Amino acid sequence: MKTFLVLLSTLFLAEVSWGQLQGNWVKQAAVDRLIKYVKIDTQSKEDVEEVPSTRKQFDLARILLRELQQLGLADARLDEQHCYVYATLPSNLPAGKTEKVPVIGFIAHVDASSSVSDANVNPIIHKNYQGGDIVLPNDTTRVITVGKDPNLLKSIGDDIITTDGTTLLAADDKAGIAEIMTAVEYMLKHPEIKHGTIKIAFTPDEEVGHGPRYFDIKGWGAKYAYTIDGGQLGELSDETFNAQTAVVTFHGKNTHPGYAKGIMVNSLYAAAHFISLFPEDMRPETTEGRQGYLHPYDLTGNEERTRLKVLIRDFDIGGMEEKGKILGDMKEQTLKEFPGVNIDLVITDTYRNMNSVLSKYPDVVAFAEEAMECAGVKPVRLPVRGGTDGSQLTFMGMPTANIFAGESNPHGKLEWIPAMSMVKSVETIVNISKIWAEKGAEE
Ligand SMILES: [Zn+2]
Repeated sequence: MKTFLVLLSTLFLAEVSWGQLQGNWVKQAAVDRLIKYVKIDTQSKEDVEEVPSTRKQFDLARILLRELQQLGLADARLDEQHCYVYATLPSNLPAGKTEKVPVIGFIAHVDASSSVSDANVNPIIHKNYQGGDIVLPNDTTRVITVGKDPNLLKSIGDDIITTDGTTLLAADDKAGIAEIMTAVEYMLKHPEIKHGTIKIAFTPDEEVGHGPRYFDIKGWGAKYAYTIDGGQLGELSDETFNAQTAVVTFHGKNTHPGYAKGIMVNSLYAAAHFISLFPEDMRPETTEGRQGYLHPYDLTGNEERTRLKVLIRDFDIGGMEEKGKILGDMKEQTLKEFPGVNIDLVITDTYRNMNSVLSKYPDVVAFAEEAMECAGVKPVRLPVRGGTDGSQLTFMGMPTANIFAGESNPHGKLEWIPAMSMVKSVETIVNISKIWAEKGAEE
């Protein structure tokens, strides 16, 4: 009986220890890494054809390569041309089983948003947060308020990491990197946790939409992957917009304005009329959640020729096609108003809702949900009102869902992250690896 009780209490201890003893180790390891990584400026740049768009992304990539090598991941390598870091955590399953468990990958991006500077980040750890607004010390006009961020109250007693008010934190996505690294270190320290072959990748230029461009999916070898690039605790995304771009070109007839009477047809008026026809209830500024939108965002022109670019976004293909038809109707109406004008409407696909592929591999999301629940985290399924690296990778042949890294207010000076969200992310990554080994075997 006594032995039984001791056994029970050990079991119980093992259950809660992830939250306490091991949790403390994980917290220290993950936060230390985050603090180290955010001090390295890795801002990417819009409208650059090369990948990486900025050379400084290599500064972090090289550090990560070295750390992976120091952890003992023998095949760690850096793509010296395009700044991708790849590595493998070998399976610790018995021979014969490894081959049956799909190879799973975890991905985070090294670059930081170009919206605000991430040079000289001075991260601040607010130990044992006790509630209330957080005034950022080097620009006291910057305040993280409970009013706007009620989630702060969930972090009472936790450590919160912020900026000093003058830069980004870039926890998006350096928290994701720190969490993957810590999960790898944790699994190496705990060989009793059984997992199949786990792949690690750190990528450049996510913020400028070029992350997947030179991703060596074949060489890397993961069958399914997870980007650790979502926001707050529990976020899980397997859905993105369907996206198209429409280019509308208005052709007028130019002539010398002094002698234009009865001859000139000014394409600018037709374009202005067309723009006035956009439905008010279908705009980014009037929609949210699962609603799609039509969004004119770029206009250049003169009397002879005016070109308008329009974003078309919808979670459903049908909804997107309907929006294309609305543009077609707007074109017809404009032609009626301006008989001398010709209008070309060309619609091209940008990306597709990754759910159309991911829904064929339900384990990817189901195992992530289970992994979160095992870590005491309530999964929050969130359709992404944009694209992710995962949506491109999914259509490149590697189904990839997106999971929280834990931060709030990314891309701004009020960015913050609670240490416990980092711990839960690490735990989720470890659990996903474990669950795939237990349940994901393919015969
Ligand atoms: Zn990100």
